[in-house]
Amino acid sequence: MSAKVVSGEPRTTIYTEAMEVFHRAADLIGLDRRVRMELEEPDYEHIFYVTVKLHTRLSPLTQDTDKFKDLPDSELLPDGLEPLLDGSFVFKRRALIGANLQMRDGVVRLKGKGLYKVIPGRPERFKAYRVQHNQARGPYKGGTRYHQDVSLDLFKILAAEMTWKTAIADVPFGGGKGGIKVDPRSLSSEELEALTLRYMYRLKPLIGPDLDIPAPDVGTDGNIMGLLLRQYTDGERERHKLRGVVTGKDTRIGGSEGRVRATGQGLAYTIQEWFAERGTTPAGSNFILQGFGNVGSNAAEILGGLGSKLLAVNDAGGTIFSPNGIDVKDLISYVYENPRNLRRTVGGYPKAQEISKNDLWDVEADIAIPAALGGEITGPVAERLKVKLVAEGANGPTTPEGDRVLTKRGIELIPDIIGTAGGVTVSYYEWIQNKRMEHWSETEVNGRLEQAIKSNYRIIRDIARNMPRRTATHNSSRYTIGKEIDMRTAAMVLALKRIEAHYQLEGFSQ
Ligand code: NAD
Repeated sequence: MSAKVVSGEPRTTIYTEAMEVFHRAADLIGLDRRVRMELEEPDYEHIFYVTVKLHTRLSPLTQDTDKFKDLPDSELLPDGLEPLLDGSFVFKRRALIGANLQMRDGVVRLKGKGLYKVIPGRPERFKAYRVQHNQARGPYKGGTRYHQDVSLDLFKILAAEMTWKTAIADVPFGGGKGGIKVDPRSLSSEELEALTLRYMYRLKPLIGPDLDIPAPDVGTDGNIMGLLLRQYTDGERERHKLRGVVTGKDTRIGGSEGRVRATGQGLAYTIQEWFAERGTTPAGSNFILQGFGNVGSNAAEILGGLGSKLLAVNDAGGTIFSPNGIDVKDLISYVYENPRNLRRTVGGYPKAQEISKNDLWDVEADIAIPAALGGEITGPVAERLKVKLVAEGANGPTTPEGDRVLTKRGIELIPDIIGTAGGVTVSYYEWIQNKRMEHWSETEVNGRLEQAIKSNYRIIRDIARNMPRRTATHNSSRYTIGKEIDMRTAAMVLALKRIEAHYQLEGFSQ
């Protein structure tokens, strides 16, 4: 048979695969054909390039070291040498203040560290993205990811997920996502700042507080949001009115209380609700976790506070296990407050045993929380899991095959688009506070978040069980479809019905 692609037959990509659930839900509710077309592909796909001047680096010398046996030690101001993950140092001019430098053929011996080759600074080009998926319900909204493995298809998936997530959270936004193809740990703090400012310089004509609103995602944080804000508002006459152009900012410059913990908090509220349905609470339960970043560490700490025990954690640098439970607060200080833990990893944590990543999925527990990257719960992983519930704290952690296996094995699911909706919900609160020049307390933020997440979760559960209801807390009567469906499809049904209403009632001119 010829390998030629038959025209009209779509190629399978990670994007088309991720859209399977969209098409399934669209078929089930008989989504209007033009609305389907509007949502099938993003409104805009921006790809651009940013250049940055990289500093000089000192890279460990591994060959011809004999030649430099007699090279005396150099003493450089440690403050001017920034360590990077790969063992090299970024060299800043201030390292030379009071230095005693002995260099031969571009090689120096750093006292107590060994031989290093000087790699002169040079400009470097990075590929950058912003995908704006849909704005029928409000401005495009979504995170900014700095990671070496990003691609246009990945950002298309993540931007579409934001359209579904903002509809499910019932906040007046659409979906967007973007970022830079870079490992942020390979850059110095000053280089990362320059890259971020340049990214916003290029992005500025495309975004705005009422047009497209970035937020943090993998590899970015509140500091990066502060830099994006500074560059966007630089030189603007009414800059204070533009604070809502990014969310996830530091609370001292217009960020919302509760935003840093919001995604983990939202996930914990859905888990609480899952237990509440069974007439119980998370107290006495246990869980396994993948990812100990913003979402994973906060979810773990909050669940720990509710009496649930963390048995095992995997992240990019290792996997640890303790049958008696891991003290989450202690683990947080090991990962985040220990300056020698450069990779911010749970690997090497002394109060638990090291296991392999594969073994994580074999640990028997009530809940598995994937809170790292996408595509981790594959079919084979889903076959191994010994849990009752998978509560998704990452975007797209389960592959379609993984999904089929979970359903077959009767493992329940809290799908990502509601499980991780806490972040964008509190981003919305931040955006309102910026517009109104207000600052709400954490109690107020969490009170609103709890009500929003739990009521939308209940609507999804009612759709899944085909139980139309109008109660004091939620109304699912508009959304059920006359038969029972799985939770992931139910969440998508809710998103699509809420988006379709805008096209049906406002028409197609937005
Ligand atoms: P983060 O960068 O703070 O943490 C990511 C974690 O994943 C780290 O612990 C890292 O070690 C781990 N990790 C990376 N690669 C891994 C691998 N190959 N195997 C195992 N672990 C790996 O990111 P975050 O903000 O916590 O985001 C985690 C997930 O949640 C992402 O999918 C993100 O898109 C999603 N999410 C985040 C937010 C938010 O508000 N931060 C909101 C919605 C969704």
